[in-house]
Amino acid sequence: MSRFFTDRFASLTPYTPGEQPQERQYVKLNTNESPYPPSPGVLRAVGQEAGRLQLYSDPESKLLTAAIAGHYGVKASEVLVGNGSDELLNFAFMAFCDEEHPALFADITYGFYPVFAELNRVPYVEVPLRGDFTLSKDDYGQLNGTVFLANPNAPTGIALSSAEIEAMLCSRPDRLHVIDEAYVDFGAESVLPLIKRFDNLLVIQTFSKSRSMAGARLGFAVGCEGLIRDLNTLKYSTNPYNVNRMTSAAGVAAIAENDYYRENAARIIENRNWTREQLMNLGFEVTDSRSNFLFARTDRVSGNELYLRLKERGVLVRHFHKDRIEDYVRITIGSRDQMERLIAEIRTIFDAA
Ligand code: PMP
Repeated sequence: MSRFFTDRFASLTPYTPGEQPQERQYVKLNTNESPYPPSPGVLRAVGQEAGRLQLYSDPESKLLTAAIAGHYGVKASEVLVGNGSDELLNFAFMAFCDEEHPALFADITYGFYPVFAELNRVPYVEVPLRGDFTLSKDDYGQLNGTVFLANPNAPTGIALSSAEIEAMLCSRPDRLHVIDEAYVDFGAESVLPLIKRFDNLLVIQTFSKSRSMAGARLGFAVGCEGLIRDLNTLKYSTNPYNVNRMTSAAGVAAIAENDYYRENAARIIENRNWTREQLMNLGFEVTDSRSNFLFARTDRVSGNELYLRLKERGVLVRHFHKDRIEDYVRITIGSRDQMERLIAEIRTIFDAA
């Protein structure tokens, strides 16, 4: 720390992103990226737009916002695009949490939530999941604040039904619910259509996972006009050109080629089912994941040990040094070849033990 760093941030513990090793070619199953490249139209659009980089991007991202709104059947004024969904989540913590409205989220969930709360100096309450990592909506019944709910949850992959979330929205109309649907395209139910009926709902999605665009940084928030206006106030006070030209063009092209991504998501679900079965045959406990990753533990090696052994053998998975989930690894679902390699390496590790 330099002597100039203000007290305001001196105790902030930043988020630790998953490893992005540059030195060695791994089978990379650690950061929930897609194994498939972006669609051909996205590649063309990025190339064309690169020639116009001398110009600022459209601060309103009109074409992209209209494309997303059209695709999801909402108004453009109900959509805001962002530099990854992380940026929009941060705006939501800034806009909708304060001393009277603490952030409420699960004890086991996306590790960025407590960081956003600390960064913005807002209080937060971590609501324990049940022993099996499922979430009971009743645990939130009496709590005042702003709910942040990853659905499907990370790193467990477990999803709530849309009816359960609707019941939360109905029971507490005075409370805002931010539903982070980063992984929703892999088999969970989206509550996005409910924004028409509930002004206490903000849905956040990303192009990073099902649309193979993690490196482009593109997310979007959908909610009633008032909520989107609030988020815009923060966007225009932070970074008006938050979505760059190439990413914006890529987003429009990705929406136009939706079938390509739907087919890839279906393949990932198929690979997930196959991998889950293989892991269970090897004696693993595996959560019922509706996302593009599995969360698994075994009595045969600890989570950290499995992570380290797999890494030595060229396969990267994610391990979290955190209470309750120390025994687990999170495994991103890749192509069938990658998953076959994972299972083969786990067998070798078990045989050697
Ligand atoms: N929400 C959850 C639950 C995530 O796991 C991630 C990915 N790390 C994000 C949001 C952020 O994704 P991005 O910023 O790439 O859109």
